[in-house]
Amino acid sequence: MDDDALLAAAATHAAKYLTEVGSRPVAPGADPRELCARLGGPLPEGPSRPEAVLEELVGAADPGLVASAGPRYFGFVTGGALPATVAADWLVSAWDQCAGGYVLSPAGAVVEEVAGEWLRELLGLPATASVGFTTGATLANAVGLAAARARLLRRVGWDAERHGLFGAPPIEVVVGAERHVSIGQALRYLGLGSDRVHIVPADGQGRMRAADLSVVLRGLAGRPVIVCAQAGNVNSGAFDPLDEIGEAARAHSAWVHVDGAFGLWAAASPALRHLVRGVADADSWATDAHKWLNVPYDSGLAFVADPEAHRAATGLLDAGYLVFGGAERDNSDWVPEMSRRARGFPVWAAIRSLGRRGLADLVDRCCAHARRFADALGAAGGVEVLNEVVLNQVLVRFPAAGAAGDDHDRRTRAVVDLVQADGTCWVGGTTWHGRAAMRISVSSWWTTEADVDRSVAAILRAAADA
Ligand SMILES: *Cc1c(COP(=O)(O)O)cnc(C)c1O
Repeated sequence: MDDDALLAAAATHAAKYLTEVGSRPVAPGADPRELCARLGGPLPEGPSRPEAVLEELVGAADPGLVASAGPRYFGFVTGGALPATVAADWLVSAWDQCAGGYVLSPAGAVVEEVAGEWLRELLGLPATASVGFTTGATLANAVGLAAARARLLRRVGWDAERHGLFGAPPIEVVVGAERHVSIGQALRYLGLGSDRVHIVPADGQGRMRAADLSVVLRGLAGRPVIVCAQAGNVNSGAFDPLDEIGEAARAHSAWVHVDGAFGLWAAASPALRHLVRGVADADSWATDAHKWLNVPYDSGLAFVADPEAHRAATGLLDAGYLVFGGAERDNSDWVPEMSRRARGFPVWAAIRSLGRRGLADLVDRCCAHARRFADALGAAGGVEVLNEVVLNQVLVRFPAAGAAGDDHDRRTRAVVDLVQADGTCWVGGTTWHGRAAMRISVSSWWTTEADVDRSVAAILRAAADA
C-alpha cells in the first residue's frame, strides 16, 4: 500500500467516526482492562506494515473513545472541532513543520501573525499585544503570569529571568475566591506559590467583589502586585467585573491577568460583549481555541499587552546554534516550547471558515442552547436552576421532596450518574457553594435545539428514576 492509500484509509476511518459520533453512546464505555488487552501485549520485536498498524489502532482504541467531539457532550467545557479545522489539522501532521523558528517554517510563523491579528480584533484586545500559541489555557495562564513576573520585578530592578527568584523582592498575587485551579498550577510553576495568594471574596455567582479587591490592594500599597481576574466562571459562566478590577488595579500599578479560557469569546459576540467591559485595559489574557473556537486539541492562546515583558519571560535568551533572532516572527519566542506543532493553521482555518459573523453566531447559539436547557429543566417540577445563565453554563439541582440537604445532594449525584450511564448525553457533577449540582456546558458548534431537547428528556427521565 502506498502513502495515498494509507492516508485514504485513515480519512475513511475518520469520516466514518465523525458520521457516527452523533449516534454513539456519549459515555465512555470501555473497561480499562479490556483496553489494555486490546492495545497492550508484549513490546513488538519487529516492524509491522503501516496499514496493519492503522487497522489495529482503530479497532483497539474504539471502545475507549469518548464522543466529546459530537453534539451532546456537555461535560467540562468541551468544544467540538469545526470541519475546516479537522482538515487543516491533518495537514499540520502531513506537513510536519517544526513551527518554532521562522527558518523552519515561514508559513507556520506568518500564519500565527495573521491569526493573532484576527484574534486580537475578534476579542477586542489591543492591536499591539503579542500572542503565543500554547497547548491550552493552563499554559497560557503561566505565560501571562510569567510576563507579569518579568515586568514587575524589572520595575524594581530585578532580572528574575537571569537571576531567579531567590533574593528577589516578593510579588503579591491577588486572586478571586472562584479562580480556576489552573491559576494555582501556573503560580506553582512560576515559583509564586499556589497558596501564597491574597483571596478576594466572590459574590453569589462567583464574581470577584471589586470593593473587596480595593481593600486588599490598599493593604499591599507600594509592593509589586498581580491581580488574577476571570472571564467566565467554570461553573456559573459569570464574569468578574473587569472594568472595576482594572480601575482598582491601575490605581496601584498592579498587573491584571485575565483567565478567559472560554469566557473571553463573549467578546466576539455583539450581544455578549458587555460581559467583558474593560477587558482591553488588562495586561495579559489567556484563552483556549480548543474550547469555544472549536479547534482540535491542543490549542491555547496567551496575549500580553507589553510584548517586551512577554518576550523577556518566554523568548530564547542565548540562541547559540539556533539561527533564530531575525526580523521575522519566531513562534518559540512567545511560548515555553521550542520545537512545536504548527498550531496556527487550524486556528487560522477556524476563523477563515466562520468569519466574524459565524463566530458570533456560534457563541450566541451555544448560549441560547444553555438558556433552553435552563428554561426546560427549570419548568419541570423538582428541578432548581442555581445560576444566572449569562453564558453557556447551567447548574441544576434535583431536590428530593420532603428531604434534607444531604438527601438533595445524594439525589443530584444519582441523577448525574444515571444520565451518564444512559449515554444520550454527558453532563458532569460539581459542588456549587457547598451543594451538589449537575453542570451543563454548551460549547460545540454541532449542538442543535433537537440535541438539547433530547438531552433534557434524558435528564428528566433520570430524575424520575433517581
Ligand atoms: C479550561 C479552563 C482552563 C484550563 O484550560 P486548559 O486548556 O484545560 O489548559 C483555565 N481556566 C478556565 C476558566 C477554564 O475553563
